[in-house]
Amino acid sequence: APSVCAPLPVLGRDVTVPLVTGGEVAYAALDYAASAPALQRVWDDVAAYAPYYGSVHRGAGYLSQLSTDLFENARRTVAEFLDCREGDQVVFTRSTTDSLNLLAAALPADCQVFVFETEHHAALLPWRNARVTCLDAPRSPRAAVETLERALAGRDPYGPALVCVTGASNVTGELWPVRELAAAAHAHGARIVLDAAQLAPHHPVSARDLDVDWVAFSGHKLYAPFGSGVLAGRADWLRAAEPYLAGGGASRKVGRRQDGGVEVEWHDGAARHEAGSPNVIGAYAVASACKALTEAGFDSLVAREQHLIRAVRERLADVPQVRFLSLFGDDAPRVGVLSFVVEGWNSSHFAAALSAEYGIGVRDGLFCAHPLVRTLLGSDPQSQGECGSPEAAPGEKSLNAIRVSFGAGTPDEHVERFVRAVK
Ligand code: PMP
Repeated sequence: APSVCAPLPVLGRDVTVPLVTGGEVAYAALDYAASAPALQRVWDDVAAYAPYYGSVHRGAGYLSQLSTDLFENARRTVAEFLDCREGDQVVFTRSTTDSLNLLAAALPADCQVFVFETEHHAALLPWRNARVTCLDAPRSPRAAVETLERALAGRDPYGPALVCVTGASNVTGELWPVRELAAAAHAHGARIVLDAAQLAPHHPVSARDLDVDWVAFSGHKLYAPFGSGVLAGRADWLRAAEPYLAGGGASRKVGRRQDGGVEVEWHDGAARHEAGSPNVIGAYAVASACKALTEAGFDSLVAREQHLIRAVRERLADVPQVRFLSLFGDDAPRVGVLSFVVEGWNSSHFAAALSAEYGIGVRDGLFCAHPLVRTLLGSDPQSQGECGSPEAAPGEKSLNAIRVSFGAGTPDEHVERFVRAVK
C-alpha cells in the first residue's frame, strides 16, 4: 500500500504541535471518525468560488444566478454520489444530527421507530415524538437482521414504521448488514434510514443498491469543512411534513387571512426544509468532496485503511494490556476506526498522554454512543457520568475507551508513532 492515499491530499499535513517533553512534532491526526481534515482539492475549489458567491434563489444579479446554479448542481452531485433514485430529494442540512432530526420531525403520525441501542446518539435520540423500540445490541450481523425481523414481526402492521441504522459504527468501525436490514424493513412494510456518517467517507453508498429510503451524512467527516450535511431520499414524507424551519425560502406564497392571521403555502421540494439563507459554500464544499472521492475511487482509500488497521493490530498483538472493542468479533469487516482500552489506564489520561508526549490526536470517552460502549466494556451504567472522562477506581473496569481512526491523509509514520507510543 502507498504511504498515503496519494490522489486525496488533505490540509494540515504541515501542522506542528509542542510536546511537554520539549520541542515540536508534526501533528498526527488519528481522529478522522470525529472530523476528517478537508481535502486540499475541496479547499481549492472553495477558494476559487469564494470571490463570486452571492445569495441563492432570490437574487437577480449575475453572481446570485451563478451561486444558485452551483448550489443546485451541488444537490445533483450529491444525488449522484449517493446513487439516488428518480424523484428522491436531497436536502442540505447542518450535519447528520440535523438530518436525522429533520426526518424525525417529518415522521407521519403514529410512526413506530426501531433502532438498535448501539447507535450513535444522533441516531438514537431524535425520535422523541414517535413510539421507539430500542433493540438489544446484536453480536453478529446475522443476529442484527434476526433481531430486527423479530421486532418488526410484532409491530402494528398497518401503521407507518421507520428503522434507523448505521452503516459503520463510530465506535468499532464495524460494517452493518445494511442491505439485509433494508430488506427486512421493507418486508414488514417499514422504511429505513441509513446513518452514513461513518460509512460514506470510506465506502461508496448507493441508496438504490442498498435499497434504503434515506441516507444521512456529515460534510465534516467526508473531507469537507464543518457546517453542512445531507438528508437524501424519498420525497413523500418530506413533502407531507410541516417545514423543519419556517421562514423565507420554504414558503411559496404568504398572505393575510380574513381573520387577521397569516396564511402560507409551503414549497414541495427540498426548499421546504431549507428555510433561511442556505449554507451555499458548505453545500458546494460537500459536492466538491463527493466529486474528489468519486474521481479518486474508493479502492485505494479502502486498501490503505485496511493496511493501517492490520498494522495497528499486528504491532500491538504482543501488548496484552490492550483490548480492542468489537461487537461482531475482532475479524469483522470494518472501516478505519478502532477503539480500545488499556488495562491499568484511565482512557482519558492515556489519550491526553498521546497528545502531550507524542503529538497524536485521538478521541477518548463514550463517543456519543453510551449504551454501546457500556455493553462493550461490560461496565455498570449507574456508575457513569458524562460523555467526557469518567474515572475508574484502580482495579475497576474501564469506564471509557480510546478511539483511533484513519483516513486519506494518514501516513505510515503517524501509525508507527502511535504504536510506539502505546507500547
Ligand atoms: N452518526 C455517526 C455514526 C457518527 O459517527 C456521528 C458523529 N460522530 C454522527 C452520527 C453525528 O454526526 P454530526 O456530529 O456531524 O451531526
